Amino acid sequence: MADIYDIVVIGGGAAGFTAGMYGARDRRHTLLIEKFAAGGQVLNCEHIENYPGFPDGVAGYSFGPMLQQQAMNMGLEMKMAEVQSLQLDGTLKVLQTDDGEVRAKTLIVATGSSFTTLNIPGEEEFLGNGVSHCASCDGAFFMDQPVAVIGGGDAALDEGLHLTQYASHVTILHRREELRACQLLQERAHSTEKISFRWNTVVRAIEGEGTVQHIQIEDVKTGERSQLEVSGVFPFLGLTPNTQFLNGLVPLDERGQILVDLCMRTATPGILAAGDARHASVRQLASSAGDGATAALTAIRYLQTNQWEG
Ligand SMILES: Cc1cc2nc3c(=O)[nH]c(=O)nc-3n(C[C@H](O)[C@H](O)[C@H](O)COP(=O)(O)OP(=O)(O)OC[C@H]3O[C@@H](n4cnc5c(N)ncnc54)[C@H](O)[C@@H]3O)c2cc1C
Repeated sequence: MADIYDIVVIGGGAAGFTAGMYGARDRRHTLLIEKFAAGGQVLNCEHIENYPGFPDGVAGYSFGPMLQQQAMNMGLEMKMAEVQSLQLDGTLKVLQTDDGEVRAKTLIVATGSSFTTLNIPGEEEFLGNGVSHCASCDGAFFMDQPVAVIGGGDAALDEGLHLTQYASHVTILHRREELRACQLLQERAHSTEKISFRWNTVVRAIEGEGTVQHIQIEDVKTGERSQLEVSGVFPFLGLTPNTQFLNGLVPLDERGQILVDLCMRTATPGILAAGDARHASVRQLASSAGDGATAALTAIRYLQTNQWEG
């Protein structure tokens, strides 16, 4: 029979490692399961400027290992595996991974979310080198340079407006003729001189040498192809929370994010969520770390009292 952990955390991002650190520091038998690499989404971020305690910022690829080291110094165990499904066995949470079964008294889901991808040449190659999913994180790298935003929803317009603080021009490319974004954002975007729109347009390739220099675009109505000179490409086609493996055992909102209360508790006793995967997350590192701490402290209280209500 596999070990039964006090706390199992799924996801090795800011939320997960913070939760794991708090669990291990309280001397709870705590395991973190990560499928890819320590750090989560922020591994793609060239320079993190807004995480407290780093006055000169920190590179994303350094930040992840630092999170991991600090948590493991406290005694956190880590397993590299992908969690594929969740079941309940009485009060125990049973996870099937691609490397065996894991059983836990409490479970903290910190699996973040993934950007919907374009699946075009150059997208992966230039991620962090001209392709970004975070205007507030990376916008300043495109000072006085032209950028493209892809999408027609709130995120695309919101981020496009934010980028006008830095970029010389923001072209918003949308595959339809009408935006999905709320009216207020549409009005703002239309009245901002630095923003122009390309309707009925899709991006076929992102190209450059070392960094992004231009994109190949196509008018979906006429089939006409052309090249647009840009230094940055910001695709905002939506976010998909990584919650599919929960098998309906935890209530989700309409977007697939995990519903939690202020203590990060789900409706299922012993299961908590933290970070980008939870409902109404502001999707920042600092808030994700805060969620992780809250979730772990709530899990510890549950282990002590067996009470799920506040
Ligand atoms: C390019 C980029 C730049 C950013 N820059 C900044 C910034 O400068 N400042 C800032 O505050 N925020 C920034 N953000 C946002 C920030 O990265 C997120 O808010 C934060 O990473 C969320 O942390 P998390 O721990 O909730 O999730 P994630 O960081 O998404 O971590 C989730 C982890 O769970 C793992 N996982 C998922 N499913 C499974 C599974 N089934 N089994 C095992 N493991 C799984 C993933 O591999 C991942 O490592 C940026 C985001 C991006 C994409």
